[in-house]
Amino acid sequence: MTLVESERLRLLPPYLFAEIDRLKAELIAGGADVINLGVGDPDLPTPSHIIERLAQTARDPANHQYPSYSGMNDFRLSVVKWCKRRFGVELDPLSEVLTLIGSKEGLAHLPLAFIDPGDLALVPSPAYPVYHVATMFAGGESWFMPLIEKNGFLPDLDAIPPAVAERARLMFINYPNNPTGATAGRDFYERVVRFAEQYGIIVCHDAAYSEVAFEGYRPMSFLEVPGAKEVGVEFHSLSKTYNMTGWRLGFAVGDRNVIGALGRIKSNIDSGAFNAVQWAGIAALEGDQGPVADMQNIYRERRDILIAGLKKAGLNPQIPKATFYVWCPNPPGCSSTDFTSLLLREAGIVTTPGSGFGDPGEGYVRMALTVPAERIREAVERICQLDLENRPSGEKSRNCSRK
Ligand SMILES: *Cc1c(COP(=O)(O)O)cnc(C)c1O
Repeated sequence: MTLVESERLRLLPPYLFAEIDRLKAELIAGGADVINLGVGDPDLPTPSHIIERLAQTARDPANHQYPSYSGMNDFRLSVVKWCKRRFGVELDPLSEVLTLIGSKEGLAHLPLAFIDPGDLALVPSPAYPVYHVATMFAGGESWFMPLIEKNGFLPDLDAIPPAVAERARLMFINYPNNPTGATAGRDFYERVVRFAEQYGIIVCHDAAYSEVAFEGYRPMSFLEVPGAKEVGVEFHSLSKTYNMTGWRLGFAVGDRNVIGALGRIKSNIDSGAFNAVQWAGIAALEGDQGPVADMQNIYRERRDILIAGLKKAGLNPQIPKATFYVWCPNPPGCSSTDFTSLLLREAGIVTTPGSGFGDPGEGYVRMALTVPAERIREAVERICQLDLENRPSGEKSRNCSRK
């Protein structure tokens, strides 16, 4: 039988990590000691009190049946308390909170509720690929908002043509930002709310990294801005905050009509998050937050080692105030894929080419701080040994692309 794939499958961009994975496997097979700064998946374990709560509630047969579609009331109440405590944002647990099977699930389903064929979504670039792909799966088109250094990696709303804004149904934003590590402040969110009100656009703020922040910096919620709760929703995740990427638990909060519509889509696709996982989520949100502070200190130490080493190697990355990513500019004469491949072949270090997150990401590679400090020290030594500064620049581009 000849399989005929759907248009949406054929339109998928090539898998970002495919070529890197192939090269990495080849190097490891050849005995190389590979340091993986590629994937954004915490290496630290889930705090033990959360695991205990899962183990305990998993034994209760009451938790073995289908969960409720919109999430356990206890979990949603816990979310309300957390949002109040953390951001001062007031929410109604029944209409303004939805439990998600990880925030990626909610982000990926949202366009099905609001995008018809031909509709536009405003999507940052570079970005987490889900926003664009989910828009495409719903039959819509992405209008890309470039995130560039000159604008602090924030989208320039004035650069969006009014005719585009009129057609747009959704706008995705994400701060603290993956992959650039950039952060956003109140004035940016205020501009976003005004823009959304003016054009009748639903804002989806992905706040997956709201708790991965350093030296006392506390990222704010988009919902803290007056009017935000009438134009948008914010997606949160327990994945990065509590090292729970494998557990699949997140939530959406905000505008009740958007939350309701997403809930209707989901009730026709999935059957909710396992109750025992939601009980564990309650333990995470309401329990000891010491492990969050520890997590922040660990990434801050790793960040400082990596930044200092990259500077010594002649590269000049900005110091991220949040996220576990360093958005490192390429050496002159090197493209993102050239630099990624140079780092992998000659230093055994896996990174992600910035261009893989969208064209405006060209000029950078993303390095994830998800390996122990001593591995980052080792990575930094290997990068310094590449002697990037003293490679003649013609040579360098040839070296960069040397196969
Ligand atoms: C990791 C990440 C998420 C979280 O995904 P989960 O599905 O909650 O594990 C969402 N958005 C961005 C940008 C991320 O990097």
